[in-house]
Amino acid sequence: MNPSVATVSPAADALAVPVGTEHWIDTRVSAVIDLAARLRRVSVTADVLRTPRHAGPDAHLRLCLPGADGKVIRPVTAAIDHRSGTAELDLVLVSDDGPATRWARSVRPGDRVRAVLRPGVWSADPRGQLLVADEVGVPALTAILDRIDLAHPEQLSRTHVIVAAADARMVPGLEQWWAPRVGSWHRIRTAPGREGSMVARLLADGGRIGGGRVRVGSVWAAGACDLVAAVSRLAAERWHLSSSDIAATAYRHRADRSA
Ligand SMILES: Cc1cc2nc3c(=O)[nH]c(=O)nc-3n(C[C@H](O)[C@H](O)[C@H](O)COP(=O)(O)OP(=O)(O)OC[C@H]3O[C@@H](n4cnc5c(N)ncnc54)[C@H](O)[C@@H]3O)c2cc1C
Repeated sequence: MNPSVATVSPAADALAVPVGTEHWIDTRVSAVIDLAARLRRVSVTADVLRTPRHAGPDAHLRLCLPGADGKVIRPVTAAIDHRSGTAELDLVLVSDDGPATRWARSVRPGDRVRAVLRPGVWSADPRGQLLVADEVGVPALTAILDRIDLAHPEQLSRTHVIVAAADARMVPGLEQWWAPRVGSWHRIRTAPGREGSMVARLLADGGRIGGGRVRVGSVWAAGACDLVAAVSRLAAERWHLSSSDIAATAYRHRADRSA
């Protein structure tokens, strides 16, 4: 079991990749570029990624990386281009000592990394949707917004976004591009560890989301455990959503497991 993933509801359109199958992919790093001071894009290629899979925009690769006491797993959202067999991984450099951050800092083109591909949990919702992410959830959030824009553009005005991050400029241009195009956009500036309580405060004070008139049919949330727990709880209380309408993934590790 992956200790970092608390999946509340699997997306209906994301099940074509067999869940629970540990099919290891040998990938090769093809490029490493800095997108911002604390955000590094690592592109990996593998022939198997050329096979189209309906994995969803928040699909992720579970990377097998060197840890202090052996191998550890770190899931990272994967933007897959099937034509080139490439997955782009945008890694936030969150710590000095974490295996994923260490790997992102030192990885070079030509390096190899083994991984398992997993589908995402997001699915489109014509009833309207709330998307909530903290820093490490932003790559998945961006991929979801791109997918809505491409496949369901009429839903953008019913899409409401909350980003909780210490640094609003983490992804240059993100807010400027999306904020005018979605139903509402809220950015909460918060230190790590406080995302949950800050988002809970914003959601509890419903008048501040989209002028207080917002109704959503489902909620997607990705980030620290307390953030997704707070969002899930408030979605049930405030909008009376059932668990099948709440897709929440906790991104913060509680413990390492050997791979
Ligand atoms: C489905 C899924 C998708 C994910 N997608 C992405 C992605 O696209 N990009 C990405 O960067 N990460 C993503 N993550 C998170 C990723 O798996 C790692 O948790 C993250 O990279 C930190 O790992 P680490 O090994 O560097 O640090 P860890 O070993 O987890 O932790 C080391 C230290 O850093 C602290 N720390 C860990 N995470 C954070 C944080 N978010 N903010 C502040 N401090 C932190 C810890 O408290 C600890 O002190 C995803 C996680 C999941 C479950």
